[in-house]
Parts: sequence; C-alpha cells; structure tokens
Amino acid sequence: MAGTNDTTMIVNALVRQALTSAQEVMGENGLNAVLRTSGLERFIGNFPPDNLDPSIQAVQYAKLNEAIEQFYGRGGRGMLRRIGKASFQYAVREQAALLGVAGVALKILPEKQRIKFILNSMAGALKKSNPDVQAWVDDSGERIAYLESTCAICQGRQSELPVCHLYTGSIGEAVHWATGRDFEIIETHCRARGDPHCRFEIGEARA
Ligand SMILES: [Zn+2]
Repeated sequence: MAGTNDTTMIVNALVRQALTSAQEVMGENGLNAVLRTSGLERFIGNFPPDNLDPSIQAVQYAKLNEAIEQFYGRGGRGMLRRIGKASFQYAVREQAALLGVAGVALKILPEKQRIKFILNSMAGALKKSNPDVQAWVDDSGERIAYLESTCAICQGRQSELPVCHLYTGSIGEAVHWATGRDFEIIETHCRARGDPHCRFEIGEARA
C-alpha cells in the first residue's frame, strides 16, 4: 500500500472525536457492541483524552468502521455518513484550533475558495496529528477533489465498492459548513478496491 503500513497510528484526539460522534449517532449500547466486536473494549466508558498521543493502529480504526457497517447491515453506509457528519461538527466545536478554523470568516470568499479552504484545513489537521499522513486537495479538474493515500478507514480492507462512508460524511459536512449548502460527495477511488488513494469528489450542489 502506498504511503502507509499496518502500524500507522491514530492519535487520541481523533479516536475521541470518532467515539464521541459514534455514541451520539448510535447510542451507548450500539457503540459498546461494536467496540466489543472490533476488539476495542478498553474504550467502553473510557474515551481517550483530547491530545496528540498515539492511540490505536489505523487497521483497528478500519475494523471499527467495518464493525459499524456490519452492525447496521443495509443501513450501515448511512449510519457511517451520519457519524462522519457528527465528527466534523465535533472538530469545529472542540478542536477548532487543530482544524485551523478558529475565528475564520469565509463569507467574503467565492464558494470554490471556501470549499478549498475547509478541505485544506482538514488535510492540515490530519497532518498535524500525524506527519506520515498524505492528504491533499486537487482542483485541477472540473470538480474539486480531496484525496488521501494514508486513509485509516479502509486500512487493510478489501472491497469491490468504496468503503470510506465516514469520510464522505465528514467531507459533506465540512463543505456544508464552509458554503451553507449541501453538495453531493462521491468516493470515486478507494484503497479497499486497490486504488493508490481514496478520492472524494465534490459533486453538484443540492437545491
Ligand atoms: Zn479510504
């Protein structure tokens, strides 16, 4: 796999963000069930602190995502998107400095610049949390895209279809935060499918 390996670590702050958001969406019992099936029982009633110390391996984070998807069956994709959405809201509320959005006023910028700003901020926050992260924004095409070749959500997973629904939800909420509008987010490439990176395209705005 390009740019990462099975020992890539996720920091406490990001695990805390994910667990808080998952509990908000799934309830405590739902979260506890998937923590058990994904071998992360130690976090039951015991979320990690909000700091940048290493917490879990990327592959464990991927297992948690897979466990949530399986727990809800056909509804799994929608639940993961909702958790992703809640994760971005948590980041703005609790980690605005890390995200680089504290006190930022975007209203004077054109919409495309606003979208690029928030996507670059997300990539920057991930890089601050772990210098091995490779995430970037590509605005060379007709549509803006966000890419990561070190995506933790699909680390070690294999699937015919893209699986990073939590990421899709976070990106959708980020773009909504920056523009006040809902955009369709399409995961066009995914490492679980054997692609070198996960790629999320910012599609059409919904009316
Ligand atoms: Zn991915």
